[in-house]
Amino acid sequence: MAETKYIFVTGGVASSLGKGIISSSIGKLLQARGYSVTIQKFDPYINIDPGTLNPYEHGECYVTVDGHEADLDLGHYERFLGIQTTKANNITTGRIYKSVIDKERRGDYLGKTIQVIPHITDEIKRNVKLLGNKYKFDFVITEIGGTVGDIESLPYLESIRQLKWELGKNALCVHLTYVPYLAAAGELKTKPTQHSVKELRSIGIAPDILVCRSEKPISKEMCEKMAMFCDVDPEAVIQNLTAESIYEVPMMMEEQGLDTVVLKKLDMEDKPKDMVQWHEMVARILKKYDNKVKIAVVGKYVELHDAYISIAESLKHAAVANEAELEIKWVNSEKMEEDNNVDEMLNDVDGILVPGGFGNRGIEGKIMAIQYARENKIPFFGICLGMQCAVIEYARHMCGMEGANSAEFDPDTKYPVIDLMPEQVDVEEKGGTMRLGLYPCKVYPGTLTEKAYGAELIYERHRHRYEVNNALREQIVEKGLRIGGTLPNGRLVEIVELPEDVHPWFLGAQFHPEFKSRPTNPHPLFREFIAAALREQK
Ligand code: GLN
Repeated sequence: MAETKYIFVTGGVASSLGKGIISSSIGKLLQARGYSVTIQKFDPYINIDPGTLNPYEHGECYVTVDGHEADLDLGHYERFLGIQTTKANNITTGRIYKSVIDKERRGDYLGKTIQVIPHITDEIKRNVKLLGNKYKFDFVITEIGGTVGDIESLPYLESIRQLKWELGKNALCVHLTYVPYLAAAGELKTKPTQHSVKELRSIGIAPDILVCRSEKPISKEMCEKMAMFCDVDPEAVIQNLTAESIYEVPMMMEEQGLDTVVLKKLDMEDKPKDMVQWHEMVARILKKYDNKVKIAVVGKYVELHDAYISIAESLKHAAVANEAELEIKWVNSEKMEEDNNVDEMLNDVDGILVPGGFGNRGIEGKIMAIQYARENKIPFFGICLGMQCAVIEYARHMCGMEGANSAEFDPDTKYPVIDLMPEQVDVEEKGGTMRLGLYPCKVYPGTLTEKAYGAELIYERHRHRYEVNNALREQIVEKGLRIGGTLPNGRLVEIVELPEDVHPWFLGAQFHPEFKSRPTNPHPLFREFIAAALREQK
Protein backbone atom coordinates (compact mmCIF):
# COMPACT_ATOMS: atom_id res chain seq x y z
CA MET A 1 0.00 0.00 0.00
CA ALA A 2 1.13 3.52 -0.80
CA GLU A 3 2.43 5.74 1.96
CA THR A 4 0.06 8.13 3.71
CA LYS A 5 0.10 11.69 2.38
CA TYR A 6 -0.13 14.60 4.79
CA ILE A 7 -1.85 17.89 4.03
CA PHE A 8 -1.45 20.77 6.48
CA VAL A 9 -3.94 23.62 6.48
CA THR A 10 -2.80 26.89 8.06
CA GLY A 11 -4.53 30.25 8.22
CA GLY A 12 -3.29 33.80 7.82
CA VAL A 13 -4.44 37.44 7.99
CA ALA A 14 -7.55 36.86 10.12
CA SER A 15 -9.36 34.18 12.07
CA SER A 16 -12.80 32.81 11.12
CA LEU A 17 -11.98 32.48 7.43
CA GLY A 18 -13.32 28.95 7.36
CA LYS A 19 -10.28 26.67 7.58
CA GLY A 20 -12.57 23.90 8.75
CA ILE A 21 -14.71 24.19 5.62
CA ILE A 22 -11.66 24.31 3.33
CA SER A 23 -10.10 21.28 5.05
CA SER A 24 -13.42 19.44 4.74
CA SER A 25 -13.76 20.44 1.08
CA ILE A 26 -10.29 19.14 0.19
CA GLY A 27 -11.14 15.95 2.09
CA LYS A 28 -14.44 15.58 0.25
CA LEU A 29 -12.83 15.96 -3.19
CA LEU A 30 -10.12 13.39 -2.44
CA GLN A 31 -12.68 11.02 -0.97
CA ALA A 32 -14.80 11.41 -4.12
CA ARG A 33 -11.87 9.87 -6.02
CA GLY A 34 -12.01 6.78 -3.90
CA TYR A 35 -9.21 7.68 -1.49
CA SER A 36 -9.53 7.15 2.26
CA VAL A 37 -9.29 10.45 4.08
CA THR A 38 -9.40 11.71 7.64
CA ILE A 39 -9.07 15.21 9.07
CA GLN A 40 -7.71 16.29 12.43
CA LYS A 41 -7.58 19.61 14.16
CA PHE A 42 -4.92 21.02 16.45
CA ASP A 43 -6.15 23.76 18.75
CA PRO A 44 -3.46 25.97 20.25
CA TYR A 45 -5.22 26.62 23.57
CA ILE A 46 -4.21 25.17 26.94
CA ASN A 47 -7.53 23.54 27.87
CA ILE A 48 -7.26 19.76 27.64
CA ASP A 49 -10.43 19.75 25.52
CA PRO A 50 -13.20 22.26 24.77
CA GLY A 51 -15.61 20.45 27.14
CA THR A 52 -15.11 23.05 29.84
CA LEU A 53 -15.27 26.06 27.52
CA ASN A 54 -18.21 28.43 27.56
CA PRO A 55 -19.97 28.12 24.18
CA TYR A 56 -19.68 31.92 23.84
CA GLU A 57 -15.90 31.47 23.82
CA HIS A 58 -15.59 28.69 21.33
CA GLY A 59 -18.97 27.76 19.90
CA GLU A 60 -20.53 24.34 20.20
CA CYS A 61 -18.78 21.42 21.82
CA TYR A 62 -19.04 18.52 19.38
CA VAL A 63 -19.14 14.94 20.69
CA THR A 64 -17.45 12.04 18.90
CA VAL A 65 -18.62 8.42 19.02
CA ASP A 66 -15.88 7.55 21.51
CA GLY A 67 -17.11 10.30 23.82
CA HIS A 68 -14.54 12.96 23.16
CA GLU A 69 -15.65 16.55 23.70
CA ALA A 70 -14.31 18.22 20.60
CA ASP A 71 -14.01 21.35 18.52
CA LEU A 72 -16.98 22.15 16.30
CA ASP A 73 -14.87 21.75 13.17
CA LEU A 74 -15.07 17.99 13.72
CA GLY A 75 -18.77 18.37 13.01
CA HIS A 76 -17.91 19.84 9.60
CA TYR A 77 -15.49 16.98 8.92
CA GLU A 78 -18.15 14.40 9.75
CA ARG A 79 -20.91 16.15 7.81
CA PHE A 80 -18.79 16.67 4.69
CA LEU A 81 -17.04 13.31 4.65
CA GLY A 82 -19.68 11.14 6.30
CA ILE A 83 -16.91 9.71 8.50
CA GLN A 84 -16.74 9.19 12.25
CA THR A 85 -13.98 11.05 14.03
CA THR A 86 -12.48 10.14 17.40
CA LYS A 87 -10.34 11.59 20.15
CA ALA A 88 -7.30 11.33 17.86
CA ASN A 89 -8.90 13.86 15.49
CA ASN A 90 -8.77 16.78 17.91
CA ILE A 91 -5.69 17.67 19.92
CA THR A 92 -5.09 20.75 22.04
CA THR A 93 -1.87 22.27 23.33
CA GLY A 94 -3.08 21.31 26.81
CA ARG A 95 -3.22 17.64 25.80
CA ILE A 96 0.21 17.76 24.16
CA TYR A 97 1.77 19.30 27.27
CA LYS A 98 -0.09 16.95 29.58
CA SER A 99 1.17 13.88 27.83
CA VAL A 100 4.76 15.24 27.79
CA ILE A 101 4.55 16.16 31.48
CA ASP A 102 3.05 12.76 32.36
CA LYS A 103 5.97 11.08 30.56
CA GLU A 104 8.41 13.30 32.41
CA ARG A 105 6.87 12.32 35.76
CA ARG A 106 7.13 8.65 34.83
CA GLY A 107 10.82 9.18 34.17
CA ASP A 108 10.52 8.28 30.48
CA TYR A 109 12.94 11.02 29.42
CA LEU A 110 15.83 9.57 31.43
CA GLY A 111 16.99 12.79 33.04
CA LYS A 112 16.85 14.97 29.95
CA THR A 113 15.81 18.64 30.12
CA ILE A 114 12.30 18.82 28.63
CA GLN A 115 11.94 21.59 26.07
CA VAL A 116 9.48 22.87 23.49
CA ILE A 117 11.90 21.71 20.82
CA PRO A 118 12.27 18.75 20.54
CA HIS A 119 9.86 17.31 23.16
CA ILE A 120 6.68 19.27 22.51
CA THR A 121 7.23 19.28 18.74
CA ASP A 122 7.94 15.52 18.78
CA GLU A 123 4.68 14.91 20.62
CA ILE A 124 2.85 17.04 18.03
CA LYS A 125 4.48 15.10 15.19
CA ARG A 126 3.62 11.80 16.84
CA ASN A 127 -0.05 12.86 16.96
CA VAL A 128 -0.02 13.89 13.30
CA LYS A 129 1.47 10.60 12.15
CA LEU A 130 -0.62 8.48 14.50
CA LEU A 131 -3.64 8.57 12.17
CA GLY A 132 -1.57 7.64 9.14
CA ASN A 133 0.45 4.91 10.86
CA LYS A 134 -2.36 3.35 12.80
CA TYR A 135 -5.29 3.55 10.40
CA LYS A 136 -3.39 3.72 7.12
CA PHE A 137 -5.43 6.49 5.55
CA ASP A 138 -4.37 7.60 2.08
CA PHE A 139 -4.62 11.21 3.21
CA VAL A 140 -4.42 12.81 6.64
CA ILE A 141 -5.45 16.45 6.60
CA THR A 142 -4.26 18.43 9.63
CA GLU A 143 -5.87 21.77 10.33
CA ILE A 144 -3.94 24.12 12.60
CA GLY A 145 -6.21 26.40 14.64
CA GLY A 146 -5.38 30.08 15.06
CA THR A 147 -3.57 32.40 12.71
CA VAL A 148 0.06 32.42 11.55
CA GLY A 149 1.89 34.94 13.71
CA ASP A 150 0.20 33.87 16.97
CA ILE A 151 2.68 32.91 19.67
CA GLU A 152 0.61 29.82 20.56
CA SER A 153 0.82 28.29 17.08
CA LEU A 154 4.62 28.39 16.83
CA PRO A 155 5.31 24.84 18.09
CA TYR A 156 2.76 23.51 15.58
CA LEU A 157 4.30 25.39 12.69
CA GLU A 158 7.78 24.23 13.66
CA SER A 159 6.43 20.65 13.69
CA ILE A 160 4.98 21.13 10.22
CA ARG A 161 8.30 22.49 9.02
CA GLN A 162 10.08 19.39 10.31
CA LEU A 163 7.43 17.04 8.94
CA LYS A 164 7.62 18.64 5.50
CA TRP A 165 11.37 18.16 5.59
CA GLU A 166 11.07 14.53 6.72
CA LEU A 167 8.20 13.56 4.45
CA GLY A 168 9.30 15.36 1.28
CA LYS A 169 6.85 14.56 -1.53
CA ASN A 170 4.40 13.08 0.96
CA ALA A 171 3.42 16.39 2.55
CA LEU A 172 2.17 19.79 1.52
CA CYS A 173 0.86 22.97 3.08
CA VAL A 174 -2.31 24.78 2.09
CA HIS A 175 -2.41 28.34 3.40
CA LEU A 176 -5.79 30.06 3.70
CA THR A 177 -5.63 33.84 3.55
CA TYR A 178 -7.93 36.79 3.15
CA VAL A 179 -8.03 39.22 0.24
CA PRO A 180 -10.00 42.23 1.50
CA TYR A 181 -11.99 44.61 -0.67
CA LEU A 182 -11.45 48.29 0.05
CA ALA A 183 -14.59 50.10 -1.00
CA ALA A 184 -12.91 53.53 -0.95
CA ALA A 185 -10.22 52.34 -3.35
CA GLY A 186 -12.67 50.09 -5.22
CA GLU A 187 -10.04 47.37 -5.12
CA LEU A 188 -9.10 44.00 -3.70
CA LYS A 189 -5.84 44.06 -1.77
CA THR A 190 -3.23 41.29 -1.92
CA LYS A 191 -0.69 42.82 0.47
CA PRO A 192 -2.07 41.09 3.63
CA THR A 193 -1.67 37.75 1.85
CA GLN A 194 1.91 38.55 0.87
CA HIS A 195 2.72 39.51 4.46
CA SER A 196 1.13 36.42 5.88
CA VAL A 197 3.08 34.17 3.50
CA LYS A 198 6.24 36.08 4.38
CA GLU A 199 5.52 35.34 8.04
CA LEU A 200 5.06 31.67 7.25
CA ARG A 201 8.26 31.53 5.21
CA SER A 202 10.19 33.19 8.03
CA ILE A 203 9.28 30.14 10.13
CA GLY A 204 10.61 27.95 7.36
CA ILE A 205 7.36 26.85 5.70
CA ALA A 206 6.81 27.62 2.04
CA PRO A 207 3.11 27.11 1.30
CA ASP A 208 2.36 24.93 -1.72
CA ILE A 209 -1.19 26.12 -2.28
CA LEU A 210 -2.89 29.42 -1.46
CA VAL A 211 -6.63 29.53 -0.90
CA CYS A 212 -7.73 33.16 -0.90
CA ARG A 213 -10.96 34.02 0.82
CA SER A 214 -12.65 37.02 -0.75
CA GLU A 215 -16.00 38.74 -0.98
CA LYS A 216 -15.43 39.65 -4.64
CA PRO A 217 -13.99 37.66 -7.55
CA ILE A 218 -10.20 37.90 -7.78
CA SER A 219 -8.90 38.58 -11.29
CA LYS A 220 -6.48 36.26 -13.08
CA GLU A 221 -3.81 38.96 -13.00
CA MET A 222 -4.17 39.34 -9.27
CA CYS A 223 -3.87 35.58 -8.75
CA GLU A 224 -0.73 35.58 -10.88
CA LYS A 225 0.67 38.45 -8.89
CA MET A 226 0.10 36.59 -5.62
CA ALA A 227 1.62 33.45 -7.13
CA MET A 228 4.74 35.36 -8.12
CA PHE A 229 5.19 37.24 -4.84
CA CYS A 230 4.33 34.26 -2.67
CA ASP A 231 6.38 31.83 -4.74
CA VAL A 232 3.61 29.34 -5.53
CA ASP A 233 2.47 27.93 -8.89
CA PRO A 234 -0.19 30.07 -10.60
CA GLU A 235 -2.61 27.11 -10.77
CA ALA A 236 -2.13 26.69 -7.00
CA VAL A 237 -3.75 30.04 -6.20
CA ILE A 238 -7.41 29.30 -5.58
CA GLN A 239 -10.11 31.80 -4.76
CA ASN A 240 -12.71 31.08 -2.13
CA LEU A 241 -15.72 33.32 -2.58
CA THR A 242 -18.47 33.46 0.03
CA ALA A 243 -20.96 30.71 -0.78
CA GLU A 244 -24.70 30.62 -0.21
CA SER A 245 -24.34 27.22 1.43
CA ILE A 246 -21.14 25.81 2.95
CA TYR A 247 -21.79 22.59 1.03
CA GLU A 248 -21.12 24.46 -2.22
CA VAL A 249 -17.49 25.07 -1.27
CA PRO A 250 -16.15 21.66 -2.39
CA MET A 251 -17.73 22.31 -5.80
CA MET A 252 -16.20 25.78 -6.00
CA MET A 253 -12.80 24.25 -5.17
CA GLU A 254 -13.41 21.49 -7.70
CA GLU A 255 -14.12 23.99 -10.50
CA GLN A 256 -10.73 25.56 -9.93
CA GLY A 257 -8.96 22.22 -9.82
CA LEU A 258 -7.78 22.34 -6.22
CA ASP A 259 -7.90 18.55 -5.87
CA THR A 260 -5.99 18.05 -9.13
CA VAL A 261 -3.23 20.36 -7.88
CA VAL A 262 -3.10 18.46 -4.56
CA LEU A 263 -2.81 15.10 -6.30
CA LYS A 264 -0.14 16.34 -8.70
CA LYS A 265 1.96 17.84 -5.93
CA LEU A 266 1.69 14.72 -3.80
CA ASP A 267 2.38 12.42 -6.71
CA MET A 268 -0.94 10.62 -6.47
CA GLU A 269 -2.96 9.17 -9.30
CA ASP A 270 -5.57 11.50 -10.77
CA LYS A 271 -8.39 8.94 -10.35
CA PRO A 272 -11.88 9.64 -11.71
CA LYS A 273 -14.12 11.48 -9.32
CA ASP A 274 -17.72 10.81 -8.33
CA MET A 275 -19.39 13.94 -6.98
CA VAL A 276 -22.82 13.23 -8.49
CA GLN A 277 -24.63 12.66 -5.20
CA TRP A 278 -23.02 15.75 -3.67
CA HIS A 279 -24.00 17.94 -6.63
CA GLU A 280 -27.58 16.68 -6.41
CA MET A 281 -27.65 17.38 -2.68
CA VAL A 282 -26.37 20.95 -3.17
CA ALA A 283 -28.96 21.53 -5.90
CA ARG A 284 -31.68 20.47 -3.44
CA ILE A 285 -30.26 22.86 -0.81
CA LEU A 286 -30.11 25.82 -3.20
CA LYS A 287 -33.56 25.25 -4.66
CA LYS A 288 -36.16 27.81 -3.63
CA TYR A 289 -39.11 26.09 -2.00
CA ASP A 290 -42.61 27.54 -1.72
CA ASN A 291 -43.20 25.84 1.62
CA LYS A 292 -41.75 27.76 4.52
CA VAL A 293 -41.17 26.41 8.00
CA LYS A 294 -40.31 28.57 10.98
CA ILE A 295 -38.67 26.96 13.99
CA ALA A 296 -37.91 28.63 17.30
CA VAL A 297 -34.69 27.54 18.98
CA VAL A 298 -35.07 28.52 22.64
CA GLY A 299 -31.66 28.55 24.28
CA LYS A 300 -29.17 30.44 26.35
CA TYR A 301 -26.43 31.16 23.81
CA VAL A 302 -28.62 32.12 20.86
CA GLU A 303 -26.69 35.31 20.07
CA LEU A 304 -23.77 33.17 18.91
CA HIS A 305 -25.17 30.79 16.32
CA ASP A 306 -21.97 28.75 16.35
CA ALA A 307 -23.00 27.59 19.82
CA TYR A 308 -25.79 25.56 18.16
CA ILE A 309 -24.18 24.90 14.80
CA SER A 310 -25.01 21.17 14.60
CA ILE A 311 -28.62 21.87 15.55
CA ALA A 312 -28.92 24.56 12.87
CA GLU A 313 -27.32 22.23 10.30
CA SER A 314 -29.61 19.34 11.27
CA LEU A 315 -32.67 21.58 10.93
CA LYS A 316 -31.48 22.65 7.47
CA HIS A 317 -30.89 19.04 6.38
CA ALA A 318 -34.37 18.12 7.60
CA ALA A 319 -36.05 21.11 5.94
CA VAL A 320 -34.49 20.21 2.58
CA ALA A 321 -35.62 16.59 3.05
CA ASN A 322 -39.15 17.95 3.53
CA GLU A 323 -38.75 20.32 0.57
CA ALA A 324 -39.21 23.43 2.66
CA GLU A 325 -37.42 26.71 3.26
CA LEU A 326 -36.23 26.95 6.85
CA GLU A 327 -36.30 30.01 9.03
CA ILE A 328 -34.81 29.77 12.50
CA LYS A 329 -36.08 32.17 15.12
CA TRP A 330 -33.43 32.41 17.84
CA VAL A 331 -35.13 32.99 21.19
CA ASN A 332 -33.15 33.88 24.30
CA SER A 333 -34.78 31.83 27.07
CA GLU A 334 -33.42 34.04 29.85
CA LYS A 335 -34.79 37.19 28.27
CA MET A 336 -38.13 35.57 27.53
CA GLU A 337 -38.36 34.54 31.18
CA GLU A 338 -37.53 38.09 32.32
CA ASP A 339 -39.93 39.75 29.90
CA ASN A 340 -42.56 37.08 30.52
CA ASN A 341 -43.64 37.25 26.87
CA VAL A 342 -43.83 33.61 25.72
CA ASP A 343 -46.92 34.10 23.59
CA GLU A 344 -45.49 37.12 21.83
CA MET A 345 -42.22 35.29 21.14
CA LEU A 346 -43.66 31.96 20.04
CA ASN A 347 -47.07 32.56 18.45
CA ASP A 348 -45.64 32.82 14.93
CA VAL A 349 -43.58 29.63 14.83
CA ASP A 350 -44.40 26.17 13.45
CA GLY A 351 -42.18 24.25 15.82
CA ILE A 352 -40.23 24.76 19.04
CA LEU A 353 -36.83 23.23 19.75
CA VAL A 354 -35.16 23.43 23.15
CA PRO A 355 -31.49 22.42 22.89
CA GLY A 356 -28.99 21.15 25.45
CA GLY A 357 -27.21 23.20 28.06
CA PHE A 358 -25.75 23.37 31.52
CA GLY A 359 -26.57 25.48 34.56
CA ASN A 360 -29.51 27.28 36.00
CA ARG A 361 -29.82 30.38 33.84
CA GLY A 362 -32.73 30.50 31.44
CA ILE A 363 -34.25 27.23 32.68
CA GLU A 364 -37.63 28.69 33.61
CA GLY A 365 -37.88 30.33 30.18
CA LYS A 366 -37.29 26.96 28.53
CA ILE A 367 -39.95 25.36 30.72
CA MET A 368 -42.39 28.14 29.78
CA ALA A 369 -41.68 27.51 26.10
CA ILE A 370 -42.32 23.78 26.53
CA GLN A 371 -45.60 24.37 28.36
CA TYR A 372 -46.62 26.69 25.51
CA ALA A 373 -45.74 24.04 22.92
CA ARG A 374 -47.57 21.31 24.81
CA GLU A 375 -50.74 23.29 25.51
CA ASN A 376 -50.96 24.88 22.07
CA LYS A 377 -50.13 21.63 20.29
CA ILE A 378 -47.09 23.06 18.54
CA PRO A 379 -44.58 20.38 17.47
CA PHE A 380 -41.85 20.22 20.10
CA PHE A 381 -38.38 18.72 20.08
CA GLY A 382 -36.30 18.71 23.26
CA ILE A 383 -32.65 17.75 23.20
CA CYS A 384 -30.76 16.67 26.32
CA LEU A 385 -31.44 19.56 28.73
CA GLY A 386 -34.48 20.33 26.54
CA MET A 387 -35.78 16.81 27.21
CA GLN A 388 -35.06 17.15 30.93
CA CYS A 389 -37.00 20.43 30.99
CA ALA A 390 -39.92 18.69 29.24
CA VAL A 391 -40.00 16.10 32.02
CA ILE A 392 -39.89 18.86 34.66
CA GLU A 393 -42.69 20.74 32.91
CA TYR A 394 -44.86 17.63 32.69
CA ALA A 395 -44.23 16.71 36.32
CA ARG A 396 -45.13 20.19 37.54
CA HIS A 397 -48.23 20.77 35.44
CA MET A 398 -49.64 17.29 34.75
CA CYS A 399 -48.51 15.14 37.67
CA GLY A 400 -49.19 17.51 40.57
CA MET A 401 -45.51 17.59 41.51
CA GLU A 402 -45.27 21.22 42.49
CA GLY A 403 -41.74 22.60 42.36
CA ALA A 404 -40.46 19.55 40.46
CA ASN A 405 -36.97 20.21 39.16
CA SER A 406 -33.62 18.77 38.24
CA ALA A 407 -31.25 18.20 41.15
CA GLU A 408 -28.77 20.15 39.01
CA PHE A 409 -30.79 23.34 39.54
CA ASP A 410 -32.53 22.73 42.86
CA PRO A 411 -30.81 20.12 45.03
CA ASP A 412 -33.54 20.49 47.68
CA THR A 413 -36.57 20.01 45.43
CA LYS A 414 -39.25 17.69 46.76
CA TYR A 415 -39.56 16.15 43.29
CA PRO A 416 -36.12 15.66 41.71
CA VAL A 417 -37.55 14.23 38.48
CA ILE A 418 -34.11 14.66 36.92
CA ASP A 419 -31.25 13.47 39.12
CA LEU A 420 -27.91 11.67 39.21
CA MET A 421 -28.58 7.95 38.74
CA PRO A 422 -26.31 5.30 40.20
CA GLU A 423 -27.14 3.19 37.13
CA GLN A 424 -25.28 5.66 34.98
CA VAL A 425 -21.79 4.93 36.21
CA ASP A 426 -21.69 1.18 35.74
CA VAL A 427 -23.44 1.22 32.37
CA GLU A 428 -20.28 0.72 30.36
CA GLU A 429 -17.51 1.31 32.83
CA LYS A 430 -17.14 4.84 31.55
CA GLY A 431 -16.30 5.72 35.12
CA GLY A 432 -16.46 9.49 34.78
CA THR A 433 -19.31 11.60 35.97
CA MET A 434 -20.66 12.35 32.51
CA ARG A 435 -22.34 9.94 30.18
CA LEU A 436 -20.30 10.64 27.05
CA GLY A 437 -20.30 9.17 23.56
CA LEU A 438 -22.27 6.45 21.86
CA TYR A 439 -24.87 4.39 23.78
CA PRO A 440 -27.48 1.93 22.51
CA CYS A 441 -31.17 2.67 22.93
CA LYS A 442 -33.99 0.14 22.72
CA VAL A 443 -36.89 1.65 20.80
CA TYR A 444 -40.38 0.99 22.20
CA PRO A 445 -42.97 -0.27 19.72
CA GLY A 446 -45.88 1.94 18.70
CA THR A 447 -44.06 5.18 19.47
CA LEU A 448 -43.14 8.32 17.51
CA THR A 449 -39.57 7.16 17.97
CA GLU A 450 -40.20 3.85 16.24
CA LYS A 451 -42.03 5.61 13.44
CA ALA A 452 -39.07 7.95 12.90
CA TYR A 453 -36.24 5.41 13.06
CA GLY A 454 -38.01 2.30 11.80
CA ALA A 455 -35.57 0.29 13.93
CA GLU A 456 -35.59 -1.61 17.23
CA LEU A 457 -32.12 -0.64 18.36
CA ILE A 458 -30.41 2.68 17.74
CA TYR A 459 -27.11 4.25 18.76
CA GLU A 460 -26.82 7.89 19.69
CA ARG A 461 -24.26 10.22 21.27
CA HIS A 462 -24.55 11.52 24.82
CA ARG A 463 -23.08 14.34 26.87
CA HIS A 464 -24.79 14.83 30.20
CA ARG A 465 -24.57 14.07 33.87
CA TYR A 466 -28.24 13.90 34.91
CA GLU A 467 -30.98 11.42 34.00
CA VAL A 468 -34.72 10.89 34.39
CA ASN A 469 -35.13 9.78 38.00
CA ASN A 470 -36.16 6.11 38.08
CA ALA A 471 -37.78 6.60 41.50
CA LEU A 472 -40.35 9.00 39.99
CA ARG A 473 -40.51 7.56 36.47
CA GLU A 474 -43.61 5.39 36.96
CA GLN A 475 -45.61 8.25 38.47
CA ILE A 476 -44.92 10.44 35.46
CA VAL A 477 -45.61 7.69 32.93
CA GLU A 478 -48.93 6.92 34.64
CA LYS A 479 -49.99 10.50 33.97
CA GLY A 480 -49.43 10.11 30.25
CA LEU A 481 -45.83 10.93 29.36
CA ARG A 482 -44.74 8.01 27.17
CA ILE A 483 -41.32 6.43 27.02
CA GLY A 484 -39.99 6.14 23.47
CA GLY A 485 -36.81 4.28 24.31
CA THR A 486 -34.46 3.26 27.10
CA LEU A 487 -31.07 1.66 27.48
CA PRO A 488 -31.47 -1.98 26.40
CA ASN A 489 -31.52 -3.03 30.07
CA GLY A 490 -34.36 -0.54 30.65
CA ARG A 491 -32.46 1.28 33.38
CA LEU A 492 -32.14 4.74 31.87
CA VAL A 493 -34.78 6.69 29.97
CA GLU A 494 -33.50 7.89 26.58
CA ILE A 495 -36.66 9.29 24.97
CA VAL A 496 -39.95 10.69 26.23
CA GLU A 497 -42.91 11.65 24.08
CA LEU A 498 -46.62 12.38 24.07
CA PRO A 499 -49.09 10.06 22.33
CA GLU A 500 -50.36 11.33 18.95
CA ASP A 501 -53.96 11.61 20.18
CA VAL A 502 -52.82 14.12 22.81
CA HIS A 503 -50.30 16.14 20.82
CA PRO A 504 -49.27 16.20 17.12
CA TRP A 505 -45.51 15.72 17.80
CA PHE A 506 -43.87 16.14 21.18
CA LEU A 507 -40.57 14.37 21.78
CA GLY A 508 -37.54 14.78 24.01
CA ALA A 509 -34.27 12.88 23.60
CA GLN A 510 -31.67 12.53 26.34
CA PHE A 511 -28.98 12.18 23.66
CA HIS A 512 -27.76 14.59 20.98
CA PRO A 513 -29.16 13.53 17.59
CA GLU A 514 -27.75 16.68 15.98
CA PHE A 515 -24.26 15.16 15.89
CA LYS A 516 -25.41 12.40 13.56
CA SER A 517 -27.34 14.32 10.92
CA ARG A 518 -25.68 14.54 7.50
CA PRO A 519 -26.67 16.69 4.51
CA THR A 520 -27.04 13.53 2.43
CA ASN A 521 -28.69 11.64 5.29
CA PRO A 522 -30.85 13.85 7.55
CA HIS A 523 -31.50 12.60 11.07
CA PRO A 524 -34.90 10.84 11.37
CA LEU A 525 -35.99 12.78 14.48
CA PHE A 526 -35.23 16.15 12.88
CA ARG A 527 -36.91 14.99 9.67
CA GLU A 528 -40.08 13.96 11.52
CA PHE A 529 -40.09 17.11 13.66
CA ILE A 530 -39.99 19.34 10.56
CA ALA A 531 -42.58 17.15 8.83
CA ALA A 532 -44.91 17.62 11.82
CA ALA A 533 -44.23 21.37 11.90
CA LEU A 534 -45.23 21.60 8.22
CA ARG A 535 -48.32 19.42 8.72
CA GLU A 536 -49.58 21.46 11.65
CA GLN A 537 -49.04 24.84 9.99
CA LYS A 538 -51.84 27.30 10.56
N1 GLN B 1 -27.08 19.80 32.23
C1 GLN B 1 -27.71 18.57 31.89
C2 GLN B 1 -26.94 17.37 32.40
O1 GLN B 1 -25.80 17.47 32.75
C3 GLN B 1 -27.93 18.47 30.37
C4 GLN B 1 -26.66 18.45 29.60
C5 GLN B 1 -26.87 18.73 28.13
O2 GLN B 1 -27.87 19.26 27.70
N2 GLN B 1 -25.89 18.40 27.32
O3 GLN B 1 -27.47 16.30 32.45
